[in-house]
Amino acid sequence: MTEATPLSKDLVSILDLDRGQVELILDTAESFAEVSERTIKKVPTLRGRTLVGLFFEPSTRTSASFEIAAKRLSADWVSFSLASSSLTKGESLIDTVRNLDAMAPDMVVVRHADPGVPRMLALRVACSVINAGDGAHEHPSQALLDAFTIRKAKGHLEGLLVAMIGDIELSRVVRSNIHLLQMMGARVRVAGPRSMMPLGIEEMGVEVVYSTAEAVRDADVVMMLRIQLERESRARFPSLREYFDVFALTPERLEGAKDDVIILHPGPMNRGVEISSEVADGPYSVILDQVSNGVAVRMALLYLWTLRPEDAS
Ligand code: ASP
Repeated sequence: MTEATPLSKDLVSILDLDRGQVELILDTAESFAEVSERTIKKVPTLRGRTLVGLFFEPSTRTSASFEIAAKRLSADWVSFSLASSSLTKGESLIDTVRNLDAMAPDMVVVRHADPGVPRMLALRVACSVINAGDGAHEHPSQALLDAFTIRKAKGHLEGLLVAMIGDIELSRVVRSNIHLLQMMGARVRVAGPRSMMPLGIEEMGVEVVYSTAEAVRDADVVMMLRIQLERESRARFPSLREYFDVFALTPERLEGAKDDVIILHPGPMNRGVEISSEVADGPYSVILDQVSNGVAVRMALLYLWTLRPEDAS
């Protein structure tokens, strides 16, 4: 294992990490996974710590996962959505967060529709900030749980061919995954309609193809992505039916993949749009494993960033 350097105050981007730190997070998650299998799913590790969740964009899995992770570690978890915060009364985001920071939390976990918000907050508050998804920018905890799921299934990440298919332009999951998988020695292939492929994506060192069948050829891992309709300013495909007919992952299109391929999806899944139910519920799918693993990975993040060595002294 690579020696881990000290973690920085915040986790906003996968680029805040090096390979040793990723391994540390995945190994720590491994050691926490068993807590979720107990009858009493709680350890006292973060007793007396206060963690704040700010979910200013819809979230089911990520917010529940962070909250369950916090509670399994015995931390106090307080969370706000846009509707329940004073932002609706005209307070600026920075003022809201500085007021929360004045109550001395150990960490803020933030999701926001605007890219860059977690970094901006991180520069202004004393506590650690974890990015739980910012616009089309990054979603580091998702990429880490994806890596954990892949490593668990395959035993390693090095040398694997990972195909990501769908809305490459607007998916924050793609960006975080490209950074992380390449750092860990995996090869990344992306595919989707040309209208959803950002210009210059090749410069990230990925292979680009424009058909699902071509994308899955010899792949060890296939990650399907939702069309980010909420971030669209213009239509990028004729209809959902057309999208399914041309790009969806179906059993036939999966035929060229490796025999032991695994299928991932970060959720929420749109059955009958990017993926057929036969594949989503089929033998290669690890989609619900991703959700279970997400709790262990977020326990690791909360633990490592709350108990950073410089804080412990
Ligand atoms: N849940 C993931 C995210 O928040 C993926 C998605 O919404 O499509 O980015």
